[in-house]
This record gives sequence, structure tokens and C-alpha cells, in this order.
Amino acid sequence: MEENLESKLFNKKENGWKNVDNTQKEKIFNFSKNYMEFLNKAKTEREFITEAIKMARENGYKDILEFQKLQPGDKVYFINREKSMYLAIIGTENIENGLHIIGSHVDSPRLDLKPNPLYEDTGIAYLKTHYYGGIKKYQWTTIPLSIHGVIVKPNGEKVVVNIGEDENDPIFTITDLLPHLAQEQMEKKLKNGIEGEDLNVLIGSIPYQDENAKEKVKLNILNILNQKYGIVEADFQSSELEIIPAFRARSLGFDSGMVAAYGQDDKVCAYTSLAAMMTLENVKNTAICILSDKEEIGSMGNTGMESHMFDFFISEILNKLEVNKPNLLDRVFCFSKMLSSDVDAGFDPIYASVSDKLNAGFLGKGISLNKYTGSRGKSGASDANAEYVAWVRNILEKNNIKYQIAELGKVDIGGGGTIAYILANKGADVIDCGVPVLSMHAPYEVTSKFDIYSAFETYKAFWNE
Ligand code: MN
Ligand code: MN
Repeated sequence: MEENLESKLFNKKENGWKNVDNTQKEKIFNFSKNYMEFLNKAKTEREFITEAIKMARENGYKDILEFQKLQPGDKVYFINREKSMYLAIIGTENIENGLHIIGSHVDSPRLDLKPNPLYEDTGIAYLKTHYYGGIKKYQWTTIPLSIHGVIVKPNGEKVVVNIGEDENDPIFTITDLLPHLAQEQMEKKLKNGIEGEDLNVLIGSIPYQDENAKEKVKLNILNILNQKYGIVEADFQSSELEIIPAFRARSLGFDSGMVAAYGQDDKVCAYTSLAAMMTLENVKNTAICILSDKEEIGSMGNTGMESHMFDFFISEILNKLEVNKPNLLDRVFCFSKMLSSDVDAGFDPIYASVSDKLNAGFLGKGISLNKYTGSRGKSGASDANAEYVAWVRNILEKNNIKYQIAELGKVDIGGGGTIAYILANKGADVIDCGVPVLSMHAPYEVTSKFDIYSAFETYKAFWNE
């Protein structure tokens, strides 16, 4: 009897693999395999959007600009400057009653090239960088790096760059001091061990054979770039080149139960929500999938979530449904529901002291929801209303999806935020809801395949509600 009372009253947070049979395991592993293959092609925000457009078009989505009028069942998308994207399926319900939005971000911490990056010092050529997002700088030295991005010439011609991913490509790296001579460096605080201005990428060492040239190695590099891409040094000024780890996404562990990959914050939630959207056919409330940019640096600018570009997309839907009228956009947002699909800090037993075990998100225990984020006394938090948390719980429970409600670390230890507050400020009900990650923001981040699949199931169930 007592045992029954316990199972009736306690919130059991079991390991999700416990009840996974072989058929289910195969499904989970297959899904993760597709995820890893996608990640290997989509390592930056621009590449993610390129792949997302392909996937959307294969599944019957069309650019909203191709539509004169919209009706229930129509599948549309809008591309915002090749770096962010919004997708929608028009629902059967009156759109005045709100949207069901899932929003993730496709940018990840990295090193951007400076506008004037190229220099030579003592016969070695380097590219100077400016880091993007919250990184621990020491993690970015002595690992293989690749260069991704675009160079745009003044005539508008755009060169797409991707070097270091193909087996036959060279890679790049940032050097660190040998331990033999690192006595002083090793005494420094960890955050000062590697300085931002020292994150210079090693890119070449062979001089151009011209006795009269001053910087022969730099000249040789520019000559190679000119032959390959038709660019000159000044063209770096109108480029966006990102230095990212050249690692491929791999299965992790003897049991292959985890995924190790660069950029899983937040491409794991971006991929699972996009994949969930591709399974939808007819929805009641209009389903919206946001793939935003610039979350890692505060969501500002015209590709970030703070921009009015998203409002423009929804207004275009209202126009093309021929229902628009004054204040309708505000009304639509006020009645909308959203999952802010961003990763959560996974509990790491090696660093257990930063987490409250009772309120941490664990790998393998399913999708992790944060009722609120913020730091200190919930400063800057977007705090989901209890009524809305209950509504989301109901969807998860009736669909038998494993979930955990957690917070990001112990009180006063740190904190963080997502795009949740931006939509909440517009009036939508929003909760953070994503995959727990180990080594978040590191060049190689770790997730559980069970949680990845839970995220996919959660997003599907939310939109089908
Ligand atoms: Mn994130
Ligand atoms: Mn992040």
C-alpha cells in the first residue's frame, strides 16, 4: 500500500531510457543520425537557413512572397537576410485566437574575423578575430578550426566560403604556449589565460617568391585567395567569416547514447522544431516556427528577435488572409502561446556544486522546461504564468512525453536568458523548453539522444494541440 501511495504522490524523475524498447530505441537513434547529418551541413546560421529552406521546399512550403492570398493548410516561410527564417502553417481556427509559436536560434558562439584581419609576423600569417557570444577563450586554442561565411564584393557578387570541413581541406588553429614556458600564464586567472586579442588564427607559412615583396607570406595567402575566390584584401571589409570548430557531429559513449557536436546551442532545438514542423499537415491554431539569429549577443539588429521583422511576417499573413484591421497584430500576440525552444544547462556531476539537484535538468530525463530564467533575484526573467505551465504540462502528460521543470543553476551562481521575454513582452504566454546540454558554449557540446527525441515529440504535440 505504501509503495502505491509513493508512486501516486511523488514526482518521479526517472531516466528516460528505462522504458525504451528496441523499436523505440531504433527510432531515437535514427532521428539523431539525421540530426547529426544535418548539423554537419549546417554549422552556421547562414548554412542552417540554407538547409532549412531546402527541407521546407521539399515538404511543400513556399515563400510567402509567392502567395497572393492565404488559406488554412497553406505552408509558408519568410527568409530574413539569409540568417533567420520564420515558417507558418495556416490553421483552421480564426487567427484572432492566437498563434502557436516555437522559437529557437541558429547562431552559436564562435570567433568572427575582424574587418581587417590579415597580417604577417615573423614569416607566419594570421587572421585576427573578435569572439561572438559567451565563450571560455582557452577552449578555442589548439583545436582544428574551419572558416565559414560570405565575402561580398562592392559589385554585389557574393562568395560563399567553407574551408576545413572536407577531408581534403586544410584546417586552421590557434596556438597556445608550451607548458615549459607557461609559468606566468599558468598563474593567471582562467579567464585571463588567453586574451581576446590573442585569438589569432594560424593560416600560412610559405612566402611568395618575389624578392621585392615586403610581406611575402601574407602576399602568398592573398594570391591563393585571389585565385580561389577572386578577392583582394579590401574585400574582407565586407565579409562575414566565422571561425568554428572543424569537428563533425558524432555519437558519444560506448552505448552511443549521446551526441557530441559544435553549435548544439541552439541548433538542437532549431532542428527538432523544424523537423516537427515538417510532420504537420492540418493544425487548429496557426503554427509558427522561428529560427532566429543573434540570440547569443542579445537578439539585437534586423536578424535578431528584437527586430520588427517577425511582426512584419505575421502582418503579411494577416494581410494575405484578408482579415487585417487596426490592432489585430497586438491581439494575435496577446492570445498566442509559445515554446521558447532553447537549450538548458544539463546537470554535470563533475561540477555538481553549481546546481540544485532538485531543480536541475538532467541528461536523459527528457525535455527540460524553465519556468523562468534570469539571474540573482530573477532579474531579467521571463516568468511563465502557472496557468500556462499547467497547460503545457497537460500536453506533455497526455502525450506521455518525459519532461523536467528545472532552473539554470543555483540561486546567485549565474544565470541566462533566451528569446522568451521578447514574445512575452508582446503579450504571448511563453515558457522555455529545450534540450539539456553539457559543456554549453564549448567547441564540442554534449546532448542525450533521448532528450533530442523528447524535444521533437514535445514540439509536435504542442503544434498538434
Ligand atoms: Mn541558446
Ligand atoms: Mn547560448
